[in-house]
Amino acid sequence: MQKYSIWSLLRNAASYHEGWQRHWRAPEPRREYEVVVVGAGGHGLATAYYLARVHGIRDVAVVERGWLGGGNTARNTTIVRSNYLWDEATHLYEKSMQLWEGLAQDINYNVMFSQRGVMNLGHTLQDMRDIERRVTANRLNGVDAEVLSPAQIQAIVPFINLHTRYPVLGASMQRRAGIARHDAVAWGYARAADALGVDIIQNCEVIGIGRENGAVTGVDTVKGFIRARKVAVVAAGHSSVIAAMAGIRLPLESHPLQALVSEPLKPIFPTVVMSNAIHAYISQSDKGDLVIGAGIDAYTGYGQRGSFPVIEQTLQAIVEMFPIFSRVRMNRQWAGIVDVSPDACPIIGLTPVKGLYINCGWGTGGFKATPGSGWVMAHTVAQDRPHALNEAFALDRFASGRLIDEHGAAAVAH
Ligand SMILES: Cc1cc2nc3c(=O)[nH]c(=O)nc-3n(C[C@H](O)[C@H](O)[C@H](O)COP(=O)(O)OP(=O)(O)OC[C@H]3O[C@@H](n4cnc5c(N)ncnc54)[C@H](O)[C@@H]3O)c2cc1C
Repeated sequence: MQKYSIWSLLRNAASYHEGWQRHWRAPEPRREYEVVVVGAGGHGLATAYYLARVHGIRDVAVVERGWLGGGNTARNTTIVRSNYLWDEATHLYEKSMQLWEGLAQDINYNVMFSQRGVMNLGHTLQDMRDIERRVTANRLNGVDAEVLSPAQIQAIVPFINLHTRYPVLGASMQRRAGIARHDAVAWGYARAADALGVDIIQNCEVIGIGRENGAVTGVDTVKGFIRARKVAVVAAGHSSVIAAMAGIRLPLESHPLQALVSEPLKPIFPTVVMSNAIHAYISQSDKGDLVIGAGIDAYTGYGQRGSFPVIEQTLQAIVEMFPIFSRVRMNRQWAGIVDVSPDACPIIGLTPVKGLYINCGWGTGGFKATPGSGWVMAHTVAQDRPHALNEAFALDRFASGRLIDEHGAAAVAH
């Protein structure tokens, strides 16, 4: 794989940039692999990459029904943070944060990870009590977190309107949190996995899961049957559809979640602001667009559009908090299909079918977990048992009742 550096940039500039290699190959599927990963989103690609790099398993195919990174990975608002409430979730997201901090070097790809801080606003006394509780829990877990006063918020974002219908009483702030470039994350993992021998097969929808005597035998795809000893389903909003092909009913609901971006502006927004109460979140991309996120549509569905009332409520909330943006025009709007679990936490681990693993239920907040999710999933698949960090996220918690309720920290209403 060609190494990216200032020197390779200069060398290629001298040859009119005609010497760059393709990022990844476009192989046809072989008849058999040791592992097939279903879904070439960030999580699936990260799983394949860590399988190859950390566990030495390179006989891997990632099969994707569309184009790689075209699912939620490329549709999300890219907020990365690790300030969850419960120990299990905090440890998992914090592992991810640590991987983010070295990711560009590890995969030799600029994922534009920008640690500009994330604020979660509190609008009521109960919001502030919850914020204080979470900040304390974060600190006990070694995660950076602080409580900001309204004056401290205003010092960071001077044009925020603190006197909204639900006045801003304070915020939690994680300064190591921030944003990253979503498609670069998918492309970077894809390129690094491909270089280690992983076959990434696009336009290859999985339409069935082969099983014999309670064990997986491979996947049936639009390009034919691919045999595999192990199959990892990492398909976000379509996870329950694929699990059903193996006779497994997942406790998930798939909802549209939408986002929108404005016309590009000069740099004005130095951090990320999220408000759960009036429900909107906003940051500014390096390109200058305001990146705005909404809540999920109340109904379930697979249409990647979302409904109009949600756009209206979201923009009302943004304009109320930031009247300065009232005349900014919105350029684009879209939705992704998020897989919402009953406790707002992911499901990562083994299934009742031997050799079949799942990684889903990230709902509205899985982008931040991309590296950590791939890390623990690769371990789970390679070792046929969960990593210590995902043990608590097993499917059977919905039978045992050992739920990890992160609705309060999820920051996007479910
Ligand atoms: C609008 C929006 C805003 C969000 N904002 C944030 C945020 O700010 N921060 C955050 O942390 N998270 C956020 N999220 C959530 C985050 O995007 C997801 O949790 C995360 O990207 C999931 O990654 P993934 O790789 O599992 O899924 P995806 O990127 O969706 O990948 C799954 C892949 O599986 C493929 N697939 C599906 N069915 C099949 C099949 N039958 N055969 C083969 N392939 C199949 C799909 O085509 C897709 O490419 C947001 C989501 C949305 C929609």
